[in-house]
Amino acid sequence: MIQLESAEKFYTTRTVKTLALRDINLQIAAGEFVSIMGPSGSGKTTLLNVLGMFETLDAGRLQLAQHDITPMRHSQKIALRRQLLGYIFQSFNLIDFMSVYENIELPLKYRNVPQSERKARVKQPLEQFGLSGRSAHYPAQLSGGQQQRVAIARAMISRPTLILADEPTGNLDSSNSKTVLQQLEDINQAGTTVVMVTHSPEASEYAKRHLMMKDGYLT
Ligand code: ADP
Ligand code: ADP
Repeated sequence: MIQLESAEKFYTTRTVKTLALRDINLQIAAGEFVSIMGPSGSGKTTLLNVLGMFETLDAGRLQLAQHDITPMRHSQKIALRRQLLGYIFQSFNLIDFMSVYENIELPLKYRNVPQSERKARVKQPLEQFGLSGRSAHYPAQLSGGQQQRVAIARAMISRPTLILADEPTGNLDSSNSKTVLQQLEDINQAGTTVVMVTHSPEASEYAKRHLMMKDGYLT
């Protein structure tokens, strides 16, 4: 599913050059559930953003589901992302002018799922995540934890081939964390590959394979 070879990524500002990813070699097979832990600033979010095609590598090669990403144009990446991926951002990235319902529905629209089926499918996560009364609300009207649950519902709704989750339980209490992790476990058991960045040892327990990052290296 994922193949990274000699991957490097750096950020330059006027005065400093930060090596965020250094010589990363990583293979993740279809159906794996992988957690990535490591100190703040070690490159976890950068790695996930590279895998989600939101950042490009400065050196090395990335393949996703047999597609060579490195030479792809922006429009091709967007098309592949919509087809393949559910992404749970640390900052949620909900669309502020769309309601909770419309945000969750969006990936189904990308896949041309008919409206009646969209309606039925969005209902389930709304109930599961305790958001039924919020479906007409806008993201700004929700708490951080509620926004996070909407973002998670959106990433899972299309049963994507690959889910990338950046701190999916970062803003949740233990009960909601458990719901979310069980959802990730269920979707993984149904065949979706899951890669999750987390600070929480309890969350990491749900993964079947555990990776550590330090100073841009995978250790
Ligand atoms: P983590 O997710 O493990 O906290 P990040 O991937 O966010 O780590 O960051 C890795 C390193 O890259 C850090 O030193 C961070 O300061 C730097 N970095 C991340 N994003 C940027 C950016 N947009 N511009 C400059 N430096 C960045
Ligand atoms: P753009 O066309 O501006 O590059 P998209 O229309 O693909 O962006 O996506 C709009 C927003 O929808 C993004 O900010 C992203 O957060 C969200 N999004 C897109 N695809 C998915 C997906 N498969 N899973 C979860 N969120 C998604």
